[in-house]
Amino acid sequence: MASRDGDKVPCAPAEIPSELRGLRMTRQRREVYRVLLHDRDHPTANEVFRRVQEDMPTISLATVYNCLDALVDHGLVNQVNFDREPSRFCVNLTPHVHFQDRDSGRIHDISFKEGCRLTDLLDLPEGAEVSRLELTIRGTLPKGS
Ligand SMILES: [Zn+2]
Repeated sequence: MASRDGDKVPCAPAEIPSELRGLRMTRQRREVYRVLLHDRDHPTANEVFRRVQEDMPTISLATVYNCLDALVDHGLVNQVNFDREPSRFCVNLTPHVHFQDRDSGRIHDISFKEGCRLTDLLDLPEGAEVSRLELTIRGTLPKGS
């Protein structure tokens, strides 16, 4: 399970290629992407903005939104929506569901058990094709996880 403290990836902007999935990685996009890779706690756009500002004080919120849109459009980042809360952003591109801990509010990525797909559990009509799957679980996790 990914936790905020245990899943830090050292990632300097220089390590991010100048182009990813056809998207030119400008300095701003690089910085936004780096922030998302560094702390995988599903931040909102505002949280990303505040983190990017630490190294790039002149960046605007609108620019951060534009960068996030471009990263989402190119499949580098997933936009995650929880009820009516502001969208959050997730760089984990492997199939997973989100578990929101009721006590801390933190969102954890939960992967599927080996060989298991969620669609195997659903009574889908024959021939149905799932193009996008979003599942959020709310509950409490054991302390320390
Ligand atoms: Zn996630």
